[in-house]
Amino acid sequence: MLKIENLHAEIDGKQILNGLTLEVGAGEVHAIMGPNGAGKSTLAYVLGGRPGYEVTEGSVTFNGEDMLELEPHERAAAGLFLGFQYPVEIPGVSNVQFLREALNSQRKARGEEPLSGGEFLKLAKEKAGLLKLDMEMLKRNVNVGFSGGEKKRAEMVQMGILDPKLAILDETDSGLDIDALRTVGEGINAIMRQPDKAVLLITHYQRLLDYVQPDKVHILAKGQIVKTGGPELALELEREGYEAVA
Ligand code: ADP
Ligand code: MG
Ligand code: MG
Repeated sequence: MLKIENLHAEIDGKQILNGLTLEVGAGEVHAIMGPNGAGKSTLAYVLGGRPGYEVTEGSVTFNGEDMLELEPHERAAAGLFLGFQYPVEIPGVSNVQFLREALNSQRKARGEEPLSGGEFLKLAKEKAGLLKLDMEMLKRNVNVGFSGGEKKRAEMVQMGILDPKLAILDETDSGLDIDALRTVGEGINAIMRQPDKAVLLITHYQRLLDYVQPDKVHILAKGQIVKTGGPELALELEREGYEAVA
């Protein structure tokens, strides 16, 4: 589904990704772990097509299509979802407005009919229920005044509504208490654990992986994948640290 080969990328002339190769198949969950500054968020931004990140070498295909040729909104319409470490606040725009607009613009790009207000609210209620987020929260402005846990749950509701094929989640577990961690983990499973979908889970900690069990765990260091293993690799890292393992 996702095939990254020899990816090199830089920002402001500084090389961050250094020949990164990674393949994620349909139905799989891969975790990416690694020390601070390794290039994990950079990888997520490059895959999302964020301006300022320049790919200097290598390729990325998504279901066989050259992803680097696509604009960020085209990548989203093709089924890519990015969850961020620090979700943005959008004063003056409610979650419901924002999500309906985002969903319908993606549907339009795919040649699908837009959802009506009623259809959209039904879908939003279903996904909010999954993440145990009160519908009242979705009527409020995007992320304004939300706690860390509420932001992450709202982001997972967004993921549920957009129903992507590939989700790249960057430290979705940061700032979550134990209960929110479980809710978010179960939400990721409910939304993304399907034969035609895949997840790239960027995380520092094993704890999210207790809920969302990865098929593979990769260690990213200095802009490359330096080690790949099964779920046991995350446990080993937790016990011994990156320096001992990678
Ligand atoms: P990680 O998510 O693994 O902690 P990042 O991808 O955020 O790492 O950062 C990788 C490296 O890129 C770090 O050394 C960071 O300082 C550097 N970096 C990130 N953004 C910029 C930028 N805008 N300009 C220059 N260097 C940057
Ligand atoms: Mg970091
Ligand atoms: Mg990061």
